[in-house]
Amino acid sequence: MRRKNVVILGSTGSIGVNTLKIIERFPERFKVLGLTAYNNSRLLAKQVRRFVPKYVAVQDKGRAFLETAVDPRKTRILNVAEDLEVLVAFKSVDIVVIAMRGSAALGPFLSAVRAGKTVAPANKEALVVAGDLIMREAKRYAARIIPIDSEQSAIFQCLQGQNRGTLKKVYLTASGGPLLNVPVKDFAKISVDQILAHPRWRMGAKITVDSAMLMNKGFEVIEAMRLFQLNVEDIQVLIHPEAIIHSMVEFQDASVIAQLGVPDMRLPIQYALTYPDRWPSGLPSVNFFQLGSLTFQRPDVKKFPALGLAVEAGRRGGTVPAVLNAADEEAVEAFLKHKITFPDIYRVVEKVLRKHTMHKSPDISRILRADQWAREEARRIMDA
Ligand code: MG
Repeated sequence: MRRKNVVILGSTGSIGVNTLKIIERFPERFKVLGLTAYNNSRLLAKQVRRFVPKYVAVQDKGRAFLETAVDPRKTRILNVAEDLEVLVAFKSVDIVVIAMRGSAALGPFLSAVRAGKTVAPANKEALVVAGDLIMREAKRYAARIIPIDSEQSAIFQCLQGQNRGTLKKVYLTASGGPLLNVPVKDFAKISVDQILAHPRWRMGAKITVDSAMLMNKGFEVIEAMRLFQLNVEDIQVLIHPEAIIHSMVEFQDASVIAQLGVPDMRLPIQYALTYPDRWPSGLPSVNFFQLGSLTFQRPDVKKFPALGLAVEAGRRGGTVPAVLNAADEEAVEAFLKHKITFPDIYRVVEKVLRKHTMHKSPDISRILRADQWAREEARRIMDA
């Protein structure tokens, strides 16, 4: 069997690193064709020496370092800001793992889709801001999208072999984050460090803050709407602190199918790579005896208003999710730099959304303009 050629956009982040761990387990099945990173050129160089990809892309700043560290006869160095759209569309590419953060993933995502590749996105932003467009193009170019985000992967898995017309409801589970049992009156004093000690999943700083305010879950509602063509009413967020059920689907006959597993990103990543097969993962089994029980709660939207804000943005659609995402990115960054408090993140995003005049069916340039406007507006509000 021919090895599958994999390109990983954002190979030095946690998703990228875990993707390489999986590929390392199956060297006879996968070949790393391309690796890209934004600024961790030291780790990138290490990965290039280990996996010897044909292509590597990094920022200009990291290029000089990379040139000293990799063999130019084996690996061609590309520019991460310019060449990703070309790289993902190369004929030899089979699977594109989109592990890079932010809306910068949008261009390469669309390019991979238009080249008819199998795309495994861990990136949320692209699907949140331009999910309709991406899914339309995926259909047109027969690209396969297999989500890596654990909840979306769970929904995807629950839908296998089912008649989509019989889907009634999706239960999108959420661990609840580190603030689940912290009283709301203490939120203003919450430090960056307290939030970054997330109990269930190991993730980057931005997504950890988004998770703490349930904004991340709101993004996932929008993501699920786009990926599975659902109405917002079809999706119920369910707090499930044990994070063992990664999401569930209810069908017309009131049967519910759930996907369970230990909370480890390697599981959904591997499934995206091996789909529709399942290979040994080396991960521990769920220990039901040790767990004893699985619990559920309704999300407290008063305490976590960002969830409602995001759900509403998903319902309105058009340019609104792009504005939500951009304003949130700016506000979270300001929080991580200790410039604003935790509750301020919501306030800033809410203000920006209120000022936005939406466009109902935007093309990419209009989406990018809305993104830019929202960033400037958020910064203006925070500087005021
Ligand atoms: Mg998730």
